[in-house]
Amino acid sequence: MDNTTQQIVNKYNFKFSKSLGQNFLIDDQVLRDIVTGAEVNNDDFIIEIGPGVGTLTKELLQVAKKVCAIELDKDLIPILNEELKEFENFELVNKDALKVNFDEIIGEEKSVKLVANLPYYVTTPIIVKLLTEGYKFKSLTIMIQKEVAERIDAKPSTKEYGALSLLVQYYCDTELVRKVSPSSFIPRPKVDSSVIRLNKLDGPRVKVDDEKLFFKIIRASFNMRRKTLWNALKSLGFSKDLLENALQECDIDPKRRGETLSIYEFANLSNCIHRYK
Ligand code: SAM
Repeated sequence: MDNTTQQIVNKYNFKFSKSLGQNFLIDDQVLRDIVTGAEVNNDDFIIEIGPGVGTLTKELLQVAKKVCAIELDKDLIPILNEELKEFENFELVNKDALKVNFDEIIGEEKSVKLVANLPYYVTTPIIVKLLTEGYKFKSLTIMIQKEVAERIDAKPSTKEYGALSLLVQYYCDTELVRKVSPSSFIPRPKVDSSVIRLNKLDGPRVKVDDEKLFFKIIRASFNMRRKTLWNALKSLGFSKDLLENALQECDIDPKRRGETLSIYEFANLSNCIHRYK
């Protein structure tokens, strides 16, 4: 264990905010594993969301070309500026990551990677934003709640498989870096964590003619878990004729449950429905 985080917290008499998801890492092996797992090198421009008191940031600054950290808590800004003042390759943005236009930060940078011990209360909206707004990240290495990592990495017909699995797998390959126990943080979170790396694909994994429709069908299929695909699709207002034709064309049994479909089957189904619309 490393005491640096605790020392900085004590030095500034910093008060943790539960509502901002502040659980800071105190385990130097975990810090090193995140940097290694993210495959950070000296060509990389790293964006870090939620630097806290800068413990992970410091590890990143020693390896990367540049690190831009985005921190919402204004109380942490003077601490970060003081603790990381020796690093000329450090930039700090005091904003809500959910409201940031990452293109403005990335500019002309080529090798851009995101690394973050994410605040758990906004994990999913942050992942959705980072993936769907088309930013040129090569990879996203994120510490998240273990259950969310399992959902992201899930295969069809498992209880973890859902809309989040499909959204992430549409854009990325996923790789579990390591698990992290609550004892690696102050204060200790109530849940186990995992570090997962999302490697952005050059383009979406499957070709879909209408992305909105594709994700609408996915959401409907998982909103009505345990119901047949037929009933889930009917809930979207498609006519009986359209559904019969589309399901026959893509050779998918309407009695199947949505959660048994692979991403390739969802793409095929959505493209068939799109053709008959
Ligand atoms: N990186 C540090 C570490 O590993 O020890 C702290 C991680 S802590 C789990 C999450 C950090 O995200 C906190 O510093 C918190 O203030 C910050 N944060 C919370 N919500 C945020 C938001 N919407 N945008 C940017 N930062 C946020």
